[in-house]
Amino acid sequence: MLRSYAQGRWHTAPDDGVELRNAVTGEPVARISSTGLDMAGMLEYGRRVGGPALRRLTFHQRALLCKALAAHLHEHRDEFHALSLATGATRRDAGFDIEGGIITMRVISSKARQQLPNGTVYIDGAPELLSRRGTFVGQHVYTPVRGVAVQINAFNFPVWGMLEKLAPAVIAGVPTIVKPASQTAYLSELVFRRIVESGILPDGAVQLICGSTGDLFTHLTGRDMVAFTGSASTATKLAGHPTVLAEAVRFNAERDSLNCAILGEDAKPGTPEFDLYVDEIVSEITAKAGQRCTAIRRVIAPREYADAVVAALDGRLAGIRIGDPADPESQMGALASQGQRDEVRGAVARLQAVSELVNGSAVTVHGADADIGAFMAPQVLYADDPMAEPLHTVEAFGPVCAVLPYDGTDEAIELARMGGGSLVGSLFTHDPRIARDVVLGVAADHGRLHLVDRDCADEQTGHGSPLPHMIHGGPGRAGGGEELGGVRGVLHFMQRTAVQGPPDLVAAAVGRWMPGAARNETADHPMSRYLEDLEIGDTFVSGPRTITTADVEHFAEFTGDRFYAHLDQDALADHPFFEQRVAHGYLVLSFAAGLFVHSDPGPLLANQGLSELRFGKPVHLGDAIAVALTCAQISPREDQPYGEVRWDVQVTNADGDEVAAYELITAVAKRPSGSPSAAGAAAASAPRHVPGDSR
Ligand code: NAP
Repeated sequence: MLRSYAQGRWHTAPDDGVELRNAVTGEPVARISSTGLDMAGMLEYGRRVGGPALRRLTFHQRALLCKALAAHLHEHRDEFHALSLATGATRRDAGFDIEGGIITMRVISSKARQQLPNGTVYIDGAPELLSRRGTFVGQHVYTPVRGVAVQINAFNFPVWGMLEKLAPAVIAGVPTIVKPASQTAYLSELVFRRIVESGILPDGAVQLICGSTGDLFTHLTGRDMVAFTGSASTATKLAGHPTVLAEAVRFNAERDSLNCAILGEDAKPGTPEFDLYVDEIVSEITAKAGQRCTAIRRVIAPREYADAVVAALDGRLAGIRIGDPADPESQMGALASQGQRDEVRGAVARLQAVSELVNGSAVTVHGADADIGAFMAPQVLYADDPMAEPLHTVEAFGPVCAVLPYDGTDEAIELARMGGGSLVGSLFTHDPRIARDVVLGVAADHGRLHLVDRDCADEQTGHGSPLPHMIHGGPGRAGGGEELGGVRGVLHFMQRTAVQGPPDLVAAAVGRWMPGAARNETADHPMSRYLEDLEIGDTFVSGPRTITTADVEHFAEFTGDRFYAHLDQDALADHPFFEQRVAHGYLVLSFAAGLFVHSDPGPLLANQGLSELRFGKPVHLGDAIAVALTCAQISPREDQPYGEVRWDVQVTNADGDEVAAYELITAVAKRPSGSPSAAGAAAASAPRHVPGDSR
């Protein structure tokens, strides 16, 4: 009996539950039941215990837990692979699920540590200046939702499906209840057991329901969320649950999708793109026996090449060895269950009403019993009328695709869009105009578009593989949801809030200095301070420096930037906004650095970049500039002896007008242990507003 994990304890259902069978041998693998689980108690435990424990940590601390968890699961991958055979998956199939899930967790952890601050609030975009005198500003921020993320997963990715949602939720600081699909829950349960045993996550951060969710949905509140993956029919039912509707529970749905692959009109037989297209289709319908939500279902090919596509598929599929997934020679294993195979056969029969089966009626199985195991040959259908409705509405969730011939790129676009919203579509072309027409024609109906030609052939990641860096999800039929996408996946578990008010209050609330907030001009240079001694608002204000004609001409010679606006007054006669020669923007930045940099060796380690750079008024020859450098945000690294400090840099002219402004990103050392605090020695003066700060 698979066990659930609720309120910090393992729970075994008292009844017999339902038997789960091996997809290949038909033998019992486990029983499943959630009888006796206190669903309301689980939600309450997540909110009361898991949420606060996670929120006590910073983004980076939580991301490091995921990194540690990924390493821990990697150690156990052999036992996961052994059990995965029962799902019918070959070693390669299981690699997508097991290693794919672990890598996804690791990548999300790494991206979070690169792109999120080591704090508890994510700042979304630049401050908005909402008033003329600068006493009222706005800032969008994300904070973790205060409820529980209920994650309901599909049967086809028992590991990846769990980890790709778990990692962003943990990093966001949101406790999770995982509910795997029953059919393959034994593998999810084993991985979950290893997660709990590792002791890496705080109590209450994760719970598991093996079996039905019972009355869980009736106890959801507007603070909870549901991340669902599965069929459109289940999604529709759950999204329409009265509690979900009444409480406006966030509901993200990843549903089925009739993904397409388009062969460009330029990619005739004999071109590299034609061969790549055929390879991709073969790979897509055989990987996981076609049980991937992203698999190619609609093969949209120019009518004149359609026969060649069918013939090429015929040749390639004939060589696919189907059999016992434990046999390394097997290229395709079984479907997840006999029931699943029956469903696929039913869907193929419906498709055959408008198309002809041109490949794959009989199956030869190696090393396993074809009657007991849920084996099926790859099936290729051909539809002379590509517009026939079932081709764009019936999902055969197995090794099945239909070839749809098209006449002209516009028709290919129309066919692609007939899927009613898809997770992914791919295009095989070497013609930039076709790429542009198709991408712009179908983008609004797709979550992801995958372009392939000879140049990326060796490195492209595959039509069907969602990547942790890129979003996964699609509009319309595909569910309208969105997951992954680097830190976007983390933000899905957070609430965006517009915080508006006086700059000092907003800065204090969000942990980032705001334009117009107090600047604390420190007696020592803030760039001479260790990370721990810096505070948001610490400021250095430089004296003025005049930019002379000789400076500009020297800079032009030295760098080679002889743009006429810096050197040639006559050439500016008709210029729309420069009446006289102006200093180079880069010269202004370089002089600004010369004005604010603290030159002695010390805690400041490196300049890591500039962002949000904008030039305001032009700097004319003879103008004087000055700089205010303010510590805006401090983000220590958990596992490094330094952290990241973002500085607000404002460059002004003698009238106090802004000529340049940007954010400078630096690496600053942490104070070595035993070294005294610099802040005590150089006591900061009282905060004050710097004249000329009109932003
Ligand atoms: P499903 O039958 O809709 O089940 C999905 C999940 O919902 C399972 O965990 C299932 O649990 C649960 N569920 C079903 N009824 C429920 C209810 N009344 N209350 C709470 N939970 C309920 O889908 P599936 O057969 O597992 O998966 C295949 C489908 O998923 C395909 O259509 C495929 O295209 C789609 N899919 C989409 C994605 C994507 O990312 N977009 C990824 C993978 C799969 P039980 O198993 O216990 O019933």
